[in-house]
Amino acid sequence: MVSRLRDSGYIRSQRVADAMMVVPRHLFLPPEARENAYVDSPLHIGEGQTISAPHMVAIMAEALDLGPGQRVLEVGGGSGYHAAVMAELVRPGGMVYTIERIPPLAEMARKNLMEAGYSSLVEVIEGDGTMGLPEHAPYDRISVAAAAPDVPEPLKQQLADEGRMLVPVGGSWHQDLVMVMRSKGRFRIENLGGCIFVPLIGEHGHKP
Ligand code: SAM
Repeated sequence: MVSRLRDSGYIRSQRVADAMMVVPRHLFLPPEARENAYVDSPLHIGEGQTISAPHMVAIMAEALDLGPGQRVLEVGGGSGYHAAVMAELVRPGGMVYTIERIPPLAEMARKNLMEAGYSSLVEVIEGDGTMGLPEHAPYDRISVAAAAPDVPEPLKQQLADEGRMLVPVGGSWHQDLVMVMRSKGRFRIENLGGCIFVPLIGEHGHKP
């Protein structure tokens, strides 16, 4: 899987290659989906949700330029897989907080992360991630794994100076992956191109 993602240009750095090589994606999937764990495709994880396709995890990891010691907030924890890849990239000294709004998925992510050996590097929080997680802010990096109608304001405010956030923005028909960069209190926005994610549902997201 990693060499295919490299050949297609989704993985550009050795650090992202190493991280994706080391995280066992099959441990984050229900038994019936495990045979396809290393196919570049989103897969069902229950509750009508999906684990993101590996190429999207690679694109986001490369664009976020994750490094040791960083504090990361993920919104949309799902299976916990993407959080584990980011945890590999911020070790040593870093920490990933991931918020999931569907309680059985949050529980499943905790179990998966424990089995894969990431429970001390990733904390799973149940709740509405559009509000962010003020108690651990500010974050060097924020990664949103579901599409918002607009960049959620609480997430902007919880981004550290010189921080970066990736968030898919749009409705069900068209979404763009948007990078928000904060520097000296100002925000710069860059559109990285089209993408497809499930909707971000919450106070600063789509309505249920
Ligand atoms: N990163 C995940 C993984 O590695 O498996 C995949 C995430 S899946 C594409 C998107 C997730 O976002 C779903 O599990 C969904 O329940 C969650 N979600 C949607 N709105 C949310 C919100 N406001 N707060 C937290 N999670 C949310």
